Amino acid sequence: MTDKNLLKIAQEFGTPTYVYEAESIKTQYQKLTDSFTKNTRFFYAAKSLTNINILKYIKSLGASLDCVSINEVKLGLRAGFTVDRILFTPNCVDFSEIEEAVALKVHVNIDNISILEQFGTKYGNSYPIFVRINPHIFAGGNYKISTGHIDSKFGISIHQLRHIERVMKSTNLCVNGLHMHTGSEIKDVDVFVQGLEILFEISEHFPYLKYLDMGSGFKVPYQDGDLETDVKSLGKKVEKVLSDFEKESGRNLELWFEPGKFLVSESGHFIVNSNVIKPTTATTFVGINSGFNHLIRPMFYDSYHKIENLSNPKGAERIYTVVGNICETDTFAWDRKLNEVREGDVLVFRNAGAYGFEMSSNFNSRLKPAEVLWLDGKAHLIRRRDEFEDLLRNQIEVL
Ligand SMILES: *Cc1c(COP(=O)(O)O)cnc(C)c1O
Repeated sequence: MTDKNLLKIAQEFGTPTYVYEAESIKTQYQKLTDSFTKNTRFFYAAKSLTNINILKYIKSLGASLDCVSINEVKLGLRAGFTVDRILFTPNCVDFSEIEEAVALKVHVNIDNISILEQFGTKYGNSYPIFVRINPHIFAGGNYKISTGHIDSKFGISIHQLRHIERVMKSTNLCVNGLHMHTGSEIKDVDVFVQGLEILFEISEHFPYLKYLDMGSGFKVPYQDGDLETDVKSLGKKVEKVLSDFEKESGRNLELWFEPGKFLVSESGHFIVNSNVIKPTTATTFVGINSGFNHLIRPMFYDSYHKIENLSNPKGAERIYTVVGNICETDTFAWDRKLNEVREGDVLVFRNAGAYGFEMSSNFNSRLKPAEVLWLDGKAHLIRRRDEFEDLLRNQIEVL
């Protein structure tokens, strides 16, 4: 889609609005399927963007679904994913949520010894499960999004293998999958290979093993010069170690991945309007009709999102600090070169598909943005903008 299309969407639906390009999701999915030729399945990490239309579209591409809450599981079922194509990977949930997933018959991934014991005691070998291993590899773009390191709350430590074995033995538990997810934004494909080798090493302790799930960590470029995870090279390396393992062990395992960001990040364009241009003694602020209540990544992770001026693309380049309208520091970007911004211009944040709308809130009693899907050359409204009444929904007026 073109910037003209985005401007038209801004006119038709107003701003702030998230726009998702279906074609881009398809391109990213095909990059993955082209890079891995055998025995590999991709489970879209729903939490990056759960609009039901996105889930349905991704299902139509042939992907499976990774869910971190029981509600994501239910959204997946609503979108038409079959139970065999849904993996439930929660952490720190009550056992009843796991029971609910079992009742729905989806794959269940367990990430602590306590639940493992409760699960084995209740279900024995009647319901095969995954175990999430923490391999203690430090990987990922930064500490907040790294999940495999020693301080991380995720997974069962690889050093607790003996304990897992004890639980399996005393409860007759059947583990048919091992899972690891070491973090987000991994550039170095050897980190995946290293992780895979760790899973190979412990695989002999799991006689019923069918699946190895490598989680995610696929990186996408956010700024010029950034690299995308080289999935082609990853595919080659992984296939080599996998076939070596198969020869040595005589076992044939299916490999799973859980890309979120890789599939939907670049599909997303977040369009906003500039409200106020405010020169101060130190900088020139552009105040927009949004804030960290709509896109929190820059403030939460120090993430960089490319910003462009769609309605004055030929304007002279000036340097701005782009801020939101929230009563709290919400700076999207310092010292950013943009084509001259006038009050009322339409700006776009690129790469806003993943963890954008999904992490939005009603802070400051502001309304959540609309969502639009660009499919087959047409704009489809897939979520209405919040209305004032939405702020009061669920409130009970007792005074
Ligand atoms: C968040 C998450 C993912 C997806 O991570 P991305 O960086 O968006 O690809 C995959 N698996 C699990 C278990 C996750 O929690």
